[in-house]
Amino acid sequence: MIDICSRESGPLLSIEDAQDRIKSAVHPVSDEEKTVLKDALGRVLAESVYSPINIPQDRNAAMDGYAFASRDKVDGQAFTLILVGISWAGRPFQGRLQPGQCVRIFTGAVVPEQADSVIMQEHVQVQVQDQIIHFPADTRALQNIREAGEDVKQGACLIAQPKKLTAVDLGLLASAGIDQLTVKRQLKIAYFSTGDELTALGQALEPGKIYDSNRMMLGGLLADPGYSVVDLGVIPDNKQLLEERFIEASKNYDVIITTGGASVGEADYVKEILQSCGEVNFWKIAIKPGKPLAFGKIGGCCFFGLPGNPVAVAVTFHQIVAPALRQLSGAPMFKPLRFAATCASALKKSPGRQEYQRGILSQDEHGKFFVASAGRQGSNILSSMSQSDCYIILPKECNGVQAGDIVTVEPFSLLI
Ligand code: AMP
Ligand code: MG
Repeated sequence: MIDICSRESGPLLSIEDAQDRIKSAVHPVSDEEKTVLKDALGRVLAESVYSPINIPQDRNAAMDGYAFASRDKVDGQAFTLILVGISWAGRPFQGRLQPGQCVRIFTGAVVPEQADSVIMQEHVQVQVQDQIIHFPADTRALQNIREAGEDVKQGACLIAQPKKLTAVDLGLLASAGIDQLTVKRQLKIAYFSTGDELTALGQALEPGKIYDSNRMMLGGLLADPGYSVVDLGVIPDNKQLLEERFIEASKNYDVIITTGGASVGEADYVKEILQSCGEVNFWKIAIKPGKPLAFGKIGGCCFFGLPGNPVAVAVTFHQIVAPALRQLSGAPMFKPLRFAATCASALKKSPGRQEYQRGILSQDEHGKFFVASAGRQGSNILSSMSQSDCYIILPKECNGVQAGDIVTVEPFSLLI
């Protein structure tokens, strides 16, 4: 790999170029394993699944009502049929429907073979003592029936590989009786914080120290059942320790993510160590926040050295790391939804880097989207990010935004 951005004064890589470089540098996991369906949420399907059955298996009622044969219907006139039994969900009517007869039927119950129509119970009148059902003149034939295989035909592809399985996918697979799947193995991810100033939760904060917020946030950002994630704690700003821990982790994990020490300060060793024990692919990106981001490899392990400031951690995770993890896990690429909104406030920006400002979305009574700045935009200001619900993405060349201008937004809830 060529280190094109390692010099302090070197060019900053555009986010698109950074993403392209990651795309060509990372290789999805190829090992496969079996899993039971209940453990498959978020896993990447490695073998397409075909349905062994029709879904639904039987022709069944879509409503609670009465099943009848359309040949018994008298066109344009009310008519009556004799009630001869009940078809319950799970307990089909056992008899044979004769001409002039109908059965009580409930949603999901098998429709007797001789019937082809179900009328809603609200549309008939029941003469209880004689078991006679009065059908109105406007009774429609061939209604309220769900055909066998109408959802999925036997033998049809239920889900094609590769797919990162959702809760709905698990439901679909269960509806076909599938309990065993072949999935890609989980991506093994380790993360550290670096910095002498970091204090663990539960300890008193000494002068000059801060609590380690990045590691807590990263744990949440990485909480994906498709990943096997390990928190490797804090490493002080000590070259030798950092190097030892990076090398050790690179042997056991597919991905290492660190925060802090990736910049150009005297105690910022991450990039230098990555260079000495592995390869730096790129180091700086033309985005704000999140400029100092070191990406490279130590052996076969991908390394993401994120900035220290917490907002920059969130931004670089969402914009760079999350798509890379998805690719590494073997899942298909995913483009988070972005859309246009009218900016309700003026935004300060200088040309040079693409910015991910934090905003608050709203919608007026006509459905038009507005976005307002969430407040102070420093890369250390986690409180305004906590109050925000989207990124306002301002292109590199943008020189500030006036209230009323159209901007691009990316809701957090639609990010991977
Ligand atoms: P650095 O890149 O190490 O110079 O860190 C930049 C800023 O982020 C400094 O103000 C650090 O104190 C802060 N920072 C670094 N790591 C963390 C962390 N784990 N949690 C909160 N803030 C951090
Ligand atoms: Mg530091």
